[in-house]
Amino acid sequence: MHPLLIVIIAFVLLEFAVSSVLSWLNSKWMTHPVPRVLEGLYDDAKYRKQQDYMRANKRVSLIERCVMLVITLAVLIPGVLGWLDTLCCQWSHSLLLQLLIFFGIYAVASMIISLPFGYYDTFVIEQRFGFNKTTQSTFWLDTLKSLLLTLVLGAVLLSVIYLLYSYLGSSFWIWATVVCAAFILFFSLFYSNLIVPLFNKQTPLEDGQLRSAIEAAAIEMGFSIKDIYVIDGSKHSTKANAYFTGFGRKKRVVLFDTLIEQLSTHEIVAVLAHELGHNKHHDTLKNTIMSIVMVAVNLFVFSLLVDNPELSHALGGSRDHSFALSLIAFSLLFSPIDLLLDPLINHVSRKGERAADAFAAEHGHGEHLISGLKKLSANTLSNLTPHPAVVWMSYSHPTLAQRIEAIMEKNNYSTK
Ligand SMILES: [Zn+2]
Repeated sequence: MHPLLIVIIAFVLLEFAVSSVLSWLNSKWMTHPVPRVLEGLYDDAKYRKQQDYMRANKRVSLIERCVMLVITLAVLIPGVLGWLDTLCCQWSHSLLLQLLIFFGIYAVASMIISLPFGYYDTFVIEQRFGFNKTTQSTFWLDTLKSLLLTLVLGAVLLSVIYLLYSYLGSSFWIWATVVCAAFILFFSLFYSNLIVPLFNKQTPLEDGQLRSAIEAAAIEMGFSIKDIYVIDGSKHSTKANAYFTGFGRKKRVVLFDTLIEQLSTHEIVAVLAHELGHNKHHDTLKNTIMSIVMVAVNLFVFSLLVDNPELSHALGGSRDHSFALSLIAFSLLFSPIDLLLDPLINHVSRKGERAADAFAAEHGHGEHLISGLKKLSANTLSNLTPHPAVVWMSYSHPTLAQRIEAIMEKNNYSTK
C-alpha cells in the first residue's frame, strides 16, 4: 500500500474515532440531572419523548458513520478513485472536461449514498416525533434542485480554479482566492434573492401589530429595518427559526412562519433583538472574512502539493498529474486540521452568540428572550444536558442553560 494512503486511512479512522467518542460521551451524559434553570421545561412524559428522540438520532448517526467509513475504505484501499480518473481520461481529451466528469460522478455518487439517511431522518424519525412537514414530492424535488445547484455552481467554480491553475501554475492560489471571495460575497448578498426562492416562499411581513412592534423596537435599538420577510418554514418542518442576511442595502430579517405561530410578539421581538446584536457586532461580516481566510489558507497549502505526483499515486491514479485526485487527496490530508479548527471556530461563534444575547438583554428584552428560547427548545425536543466536550467541539451556540444563566446575570436577577 502507498505510504501516503496509509496516512490518509489513519486520518479517516481518526475522524471516525473522534466523532464516535463524542457521540458516546453525549449518550453517557443523557442521564445527568437537568440544570436548575431548566427544571420544569419538560414534564415527565415529554422528557421521556425527548430522550427517545435523542436515542433514535444517535442510532441512525452511528449506522450512518459506520456505513460511510466502510464505503470510504472500500473506495480508497482498492484505488477506485484512481480507476475513475483513468476512465475519465479515456472519455475525453480535454483536461478540464475530464475534471468536470470526474467531480460530476463523484457528486452524484455522494448524493446517492447520503440519500437513504436523509430520507430516513425526514420520513421516519422526524415524522415519528411530529416534526416533519415535508411531503414526498417536496423531498424529491428539493433533492433534485440541490443536486443541480451543486453541479452547476461546482462546475463553474472548479472550471475557473482549474483554468487559473493551468495558466498560472502554483501561484494560481492568489487569484483563486480572489475568485472564491467574490463568489462568497456575491452569495451572501444575493442568497435571499437567488437561492432561497428555489426551496421556499418569502413574503414581506404584512402591516399589523407584529410589524409595528418589530419596527418600534428596532428604532429603539438604533436600527431602521424595512425588509422584514416571512418564510414558509412550515413547508419542511415544525421547527422554528429567524435569521438576518445580507450586507448594507441588501440586509433583510427573515422570520419562519413557525416562529410567528409559536412565540408571542414580545418573544419574537426579543429573538430579533438578538439578531440585531449580531448585526451591531458585524458578525455576518466577520464570518465572511473568516471563511475567505480559510479558503485562502486551504488554496495556499493545496498549491504547494498540487504538482506532487504522490497525491495521485496514493489514490491509485495511473498518471502523475491529476488535478482531481490531488484535490481529493489534499482534502483528506487536510481533514485533521479541520478537526483542530472546529473547536476554535465554534468558540468564536459561541462568543458572538453570548454577545448577541447580552445586547438583547441590555435593551430590556432579556426576560422575553429567555421564555422564547425555552419554548423553541422545548418544541424541538432539544438536548438539555449535552456533554461539555461535545459543546466545546461542535456547539455553535452556548447550551440553553448557559444562555439563560448569562442573560439572567445581565438582567441582575439572582440565580440562587
Ligand atoms: Zn445568534
